[in-house]
Amino acid sequence: MPSREEIKESYPEVYESFVLQAGVSDELVNEKLAFWASNGINCFERWVVPYFLEREREKRRPCLRLNYPPDGKCGDCTTGKCRYDRICFMCGLEGHGTFQSYPGGRKRGEYKCSKHRTFLSQLEAVRRRYGVTENDLKEMFSPDDDAVKALAQVMLTLLVLSNTTSLLR
Ligand SMILES: [Zn+2]
Ligand SMILES: [Zn+2]
Repeated sequence: MPSREEIKESYPEVYESFVLQAGVSDELVNEKLAFWASNGINCFERWVVPYFLEREREKRRPCLRLNYPPDGKCGDCTTGKCRYDRICFMCGLEGHGTFQSYPGGRKRGEYKCSKHRTFLSQLEAVRRRYGVTENDLKEMFSPDDDAVKALAQVMLTLLVLSNTTSLLR
């Protein structure tokens, strides 16, 4: 088993995702998932919640149609009439949804979101190198572990600070 420090050094996207997941309570996750379900949206899982919270802190609302798996599209986003933000929930950038992939060309089938691509390839690399599954990672970054909780606090504070600075610019 790798240490948390090794994951942080070599697989920063995996580290970020699992620390952030540990930083949200089950209560909050269930609340989010139930809210989406009440609007007929059943495609999201726990791992997406911290990213949506990050966008909320920036006062932005990613269009869910654009971000719907497996390959979300929103006609209103295309014509610029969407009442939601035409942004990716995972990286916050404009113009693509988290699960959208290139329809053709050299990158055909690859996710447009480079953060999503990096996360998945790092997850795969961790699996190959150490035989570590997602469940192992969840255990390693369990919110019941005080050290993990502290890491999550620090990361959330840094995110809030960096968002505040970028909004001030
Ligand atoms: Zn839209
Ligand atoms: Zn993105």
